[in-house]
Amino acid sequence: MNILVINCGSSSLKFQLINSVSEETIAKGICERIGIDGSQLVYQAVGKDKITNVVKMDDHLKAVKLVLNALTDPVNGVLSSFSEIGAVGHRLVHGGEKFHSSVLITDEVIKATEECNDLAPLHNPANLIGVQACRELMPGTPMVGVFDTAFHQTMPEEAYLYGIPYEYYEKYKVRRYGFHGTSHNYVSQHAALLYQAKIDAARSLEDLKIIVCHLGNGASVTAVKNGKSIDTSMGLTPLEGLIMGTRSGDIDPAIIEFLALKEGMSIQEVTAMLNKKSGVVGLQNGGSSDFRDITADYLAGKAEAVRAMKAYVYRIAKYIGAYTAAMNGVDIICFTAGIGENNNVVRTMVCEYLGYLGIEIDESANEIKGEEVVFSKANSKVAVMSVPTDEELMIARDTKGIVS
Ligand code: ADP
Repeated sequence: MNILVINCGSSSLKFQLINSVSEETIAKGICERIGIDGSQLVYQAVGKDKITNVVKMDDHLKAVKLVLNALTDPVNGVLSSFSEIGAVGHRLVHGGEKFHSSVLITDEVIKATEECNDLAPLHNPANLIGVQACRELMPGTPMVGVFDTAFHQTMPEEAYLYGIPYEYYEKYKVRRYGFHGTSHNYVSQHAALLYQAKIDAARSLEDLKIIVCHLGNGASVTAVKNGKSIDTSMGLTPLEGLIMGTRSGDIDPAIIEFLALKEGMSIQEVTAMLNKKSGVVGLQNGGSSDFRDITADYLAGKAEAVRAMKAYVYRIAKYIGAYTAAMNGVDIICFTAGIGENNNVVRTMVCEYLGYLGIEIDESANEIKGEEVVFSKANSKVAVMSVPTDEELMIARDTKGIVS
């Protein structure tokens, strides 16, 4: 079966067509600047050249139409008709407490997801526009919703509650939800398989303690015990936790009022600053959020980059310590996403904090980038590895599982 995976944002729509049997990607691309001047579709059939088509896209319905046309184009397409798409898997960001796993999309599911819009006002409405557009153009095709928050619904109360009046949880569901769940789920499964293959064939996901560090532009750490998320660093929103590209991560909440008064900013302006001008960008007083640049500057000894790198890495190491305590031990520490898969300087710096766990790193294995690798030494007490994430494949797998 061919599964179309859709990740719809407010002005973009990423797509990937995946063969659910071979799990190979057949075609992929992105519609950018939907509803904005200069919109374009970038499309690539695997093994062929990328095609960029600058074309007006007033809304997401038009974007989905263009994607379907590209997939069925007689020259560059990969399908002869839409009917060859067996199912559509949609990335949905926030399922609140309603969704503990992926679901077949029905009118009731759409309504329940809309009820979570307050918790993700930038993402959920955009995700649902993508769902509606696909339903309109492919009315008979089953659609599945895969929530970023679902994997973390196994967190116990002591991990998800904030230390604020309980009535705000009761009234507004203010609690920690966590994000990147699809990635943490996929990567923890694959980390366990790699552990079985390379370290101990007798142990599987169900009896392993894994810490997954998803380090991309957004970043989060999750404690996965016996296959279940028991804690994760992002909270009510993706602002909590690690220092990220432009997001602050954890701060003293009193800073918000302090800065609002000092700088004459509104609460919305302070929140925007914490989301968009903080993190490693803020720590460098501006500059790049891309870790290729930051790492080059760090290695060249530039003070701003040294400051940002050290703070970034220290926060990750602190979370690893906290989650080791939460699980009463750890078997695997696994790095993933753009930085976790490719940046061996960050990986080394994090591991330098972990000697107390009996971790020993094989520096030549740590040079390997962008592929599955165990880079701890054979005698290391904890396995340290990198596993490339694949959220689209995870969505396709869930979609296949539900429609069949
Ligand atoms: P997003 O959260 O937007 O999906 P990514 O997972 O792509 O982000 O992570 C972006 C970060 O990953 C950037 O800071 C970049 O430095 C790093 N990165 C991505 N690809 C590479 C690569 N091939 N080599 C080194 N760093 C990379």
